[in-house]
Amino acid sequence: MARYTGPLCRLCRAEQRKLFLKGDRCKSDKCPINKKRPMPGKDPKARIGKRSDYGTMLREKQKLKRTYCMLEKQFRLFFDRALRMPGISGENLIGLLESRLDNVVFRMHFAVNRNQARQIVQHGHVRVNGKPVNIPSYLVRPGDTVEIKEASKTLTVVKDALKEVSKSGVYPWLSVDEDGMKGTFVSVPRREDVTDLADIREQLVVELYSK
Ligand code: SF4
Repeated sequence: MARYTGPLCRLCRAEQRKLFLKGDRCKSDKCPINKKRPMPGKDPKARIGKRSDYGTMLREKQKLKRTYCMLEKQFRLFFDRALRMPGISGENLIGLLESRLDNVVFRMHFAVNRNQARQIVQHGHVRVNGKPVNIPSYLVRPGDTVEIKEASKTLTVVKDALKEVSKSGVYPWLSVDEDGMKGTFVSVPRREDVTDLADIREQLVVELYSK
């Protein structure tokens, strides 16, 4: 599947927001956002003019899409699916994005970022309910178990990533057995539980695609 292969920090700089596309570096002083690096191609002293309504909606969509490391076509498919579901479309979209297998692997701390999680899934290291699944966009359902397959439990990348469990804990909609490299997707998170996206206005994404 196609994916963005350019410099990741540039994407955060374009949004002037941390998208957490790397690992420990994102939480360190080395992060360009912490250093207040300007938007790519912009003179740091240049005045940033007021954005149009369209520009604001576009930026919200880009933030969300880039956070989940998705390209436009697949992101749009997720949006269309969210639109067909009962309830608030923007919240449905976040719920669907959070249910993606690569995202669940990342949130369970089996990978340091979503790109690494995607690779772990694609390379066949993950099982869902005991069965191998190598599709990053596979939607995990409440009650499903996600685990690193037995032969892959020696992977250093997974062991290193799991250290994050003791540092940051486990998200409230997941349970994680660190030693067993296994977790359960207890429920689809409520919008307010996804606190790292609290500043993203998903309703503007709905407005953008509804134009
Ligand atoms: Fe780079 Fe991570 Fe900082 Fe984004 S949050 S700019 S990916 S170090």
